[in-house]
Amino acid sequence: MDEAKQEASRAPYDVAIGGGGFVGRTLALALAKLAPQCFRVALIDAEAPRSDTRVIDDPRALALSASTKKLLDVLGVWPEIAPKAQAILSIHITDSPLDAELRPHFLGFDDELKSGEPGAYLVEHGALSRSLENAVAQERAIEMFVPATVTDYATSTFAITAKLAHGDAISARLLVAADGKRSRLRERAGIKCVAWSYPQIGIVTTVAHRRPHGGRAVQHFLPAGPFAMLPLTGNRCSIVWTEDALRGAEIMALDETSFTAELAARFGAKLGAITLAGPRQSFPLELQIARSFIDDRLALIGEAAHVVHPLAGLGLNIGMRDVAVLAEIIIEETRLGLDIGAAPGLERYQRWRRFDSALSAAVMDGLNRLFSNDSAPLRALRDLGLGLVDRTPPLKRFLVREAAGETGNVPRLLKGEKV
Ligand SMILES: Cc1cc2nc3c(=O)[nH]c(=O)nc-3n(C[C@H](O)[C@H](O)[C@H](O)COP(=O)(O)OP(=O)(O)OC[C@H]3O[C@@H](n4cnc5c(N)ncnc54)[C@H](O)[C@@H]3O)c2cc1C
Repeated sequence: MDEAKQEASRAPYDVAIGGGGFVGRTLALALAKLAPQCFRVALIDAEAPRSDTRVIDDPRALALSASTKKLLDVLGVWPEIAPKAQAILSIHITDSPLDAELRPHFLGFDDELKSGEPGAYLVEHGALSRSLENAVAQERAIEMFVPATVTDYATSTFAITAKLAHGDAISARLLVAADGKRSRLRERAGIKCVAWSYPQIGIVTTVAHRRPHGGRAVQHFLPAGPFAMLPLTGNRCSIVWTEDALRGAEIMALDETSFTAELAARFGAKLGAITLAGPRQSFPLELQIARSFIDDRLALIGEAAHVVHPLAGLGLNIGMRDVAVLAEIIIEETRLGLDIGAAPGLERYQRWRRFDSALSAAVMDGLNRLFSNDSAPLRALRDLGLGLVDRTPPLKRFLVREAAGETGNVPRLLKGEKV
């Protein structure tokens, strides 16, 4: 055996994943559950323990598409999440002015969502985080390195070695960068991004309201950006409130009474009086697409590869598509006895995912620009466009399938099938 092959056979892991957020943990789980026996995964994360209060206090709720739900179901995680998930049963989209007496919606998805499986579910950050963490902890094929920061890596012919801040080194045949939008691994690979920041922030909080929401999500396009009311279990909604960055900072600095009054003016009176039911937090908003999703023995997934505007709640769902595609390729190649870190598999991953992710980011960017302004002619055009879509049932059904993640080249795990 030559030196390189000896080195590969010494690599204790098949895959090392740098970053144990939602996408890193889900990929580890998919490989541990579905790859052939003896497959070994190293999962490295800079933060630990995950169940600390900071994670639990993250006020975000995630809109998980029907396909992401199917993936979590195949991995055995969904049954734990299900009691805490709220199905979205209808969606209303409006851009009527805030002071309008009635807020008619220009585009509604009611009947389209009533037939069959709901297109999406709202799950709170802490609930999703804990369920994934519990599932990962039960897998013997996954070895956790936490807290541990990947600072560098080195490649050789048959292996890649991730270097950790405290001096350890972890060798595998493939290293996956799941280390979020400021990815150290992407930077180390010299992969540049197409990126810009929006002059907006996303204010996220939770409200309780008097009347039941009936599973209805409302997206209200206001001049400063979209204001989303997303149904949670009980009489509660998650708010994702896009604001002009300067005005948003002023709003974040308000005391609770004034903040609630600003919120109530946007929330409207339909569901009765509201109270704050969780902490508030603001997030910078940006678009970012890596120029390449791969390098020598390296694959980028989740926000390390792409960051999109949160207006349609797609970010994590796009990351879960990366997970499903990469897991499918790795498992197929392992069964065929191929080198999972070699170029052909990585190139297949990139062909499958990069254009699709860039397209999603561009569509979100276009919608944000089209709606986040107060131009009267644009408002008239938008309302005409929304009204036309509303009167075209086949197009509405297509949009529902698109949001559910059921269009395009869907990987098997997102169809609820085992690889
Ligand atoms: C306001 C807002 C609302 C959103 N709503 C939705 C929604 O409704 N639906 C949806 O699908 N998406 C939504 N998103 C997007 C979603 O939150 C993200 O896409 C998702 O959380 C990204 O997950 P990730 O695992 O890729 O990255 P992260 O969650 O950032 O995880 C990265 C992990 O890597 C670790 N790490 C970082 N550097 C290192 C290192 N050097 N070494 C080791 N570990 C490292 C970190 O500790 C972290 O655990 C929203 C985003 C925002 C801002």
